[in-house]
Amino acid sequence: MIKENIEKVRQRVFAVCARNKIDPGKITILCVTKGRSVGQILEVVNSGIDHLGENRVQEAAEKYKLVTPAHWQMVGHLQSNKVRDALGIFDLIHSVDSVSLAQEINKQAVKINKIQDILLEVKTSPEVRKFGFKPQALAEVCEEIMKFQNVKIKGLMTIAPFTDNAQEARPYFAKLKALRDKLNPSWLLSMGMSSDFEVAIEEGADIIRLGRVIFDDNV
Ligand SMILES: *Cc1c(COP(=O)(O)O)cnc(C)c1O
Repeated sequence: MIKENIEKVRQRVFAVCARNKIDPGKITILCVTKGRSVGQILEVVNSGIDHLGENRVQEAAEKYKLVTPAHWQMVGHLQSNKVRDALGIFDLIHSVDSVSLAQEINKQAVKINKIQDILLEVKTSPEVRKFGFKPQALAEVCEEIMKFQNVKIKGLMTIAPFTDNAQEARPYFAKLKALRDKLNPSWLLSMGMSSDFEVAIEEGADIIRLGRVIFDDNV
């Protein structure tokens, strides 16, 4: 079933890219594996997806050695006291949402001589999300974080408010793209989940983060 679901997702990605003259090769499917078993994750990897996302460091720590080689990425809120462990697991942290967190990542990265790639999480909708930088603060935040030598900003991430109608997510994705275009056009955009990834691709997503559409029936 996972294999079939992934095949369907791939076809949907190809279709939306074809309709919008987007190179499907630029889209990375990140499979979000929170709450899923190692057996399920191995099935994902065997179907050709080796970018895997987790929400919690502890859960990732229990799984990642059993699923290797793979690119593990952190998509959930990261607490400062988990940073050290996170750096040993993740090649990209999508969810940097404060300067102090970036500073802690830098501090720990210096110790192990790692350049840690990160995305900045942006709160594109004022009311719904708890975490993320305010869009109007972003330029200043970037300047601060760029001073940290062992942290490298690779792009921006957002989570649109959940709705049944994917079109309602479009303005939030468009906002993230506009911010990116202004700050650094070469940065990546991590946006789009099971319910809205096609709209996210239309608005310029580079990384789509998918869970239910891969693991569950009839999503
Ligand atoms: C769980 C999760 C996803 C995947 O969500 P689905 O709706 O299952 O596709 C994507 N991004 C983040 C940050 C998540 O926590």
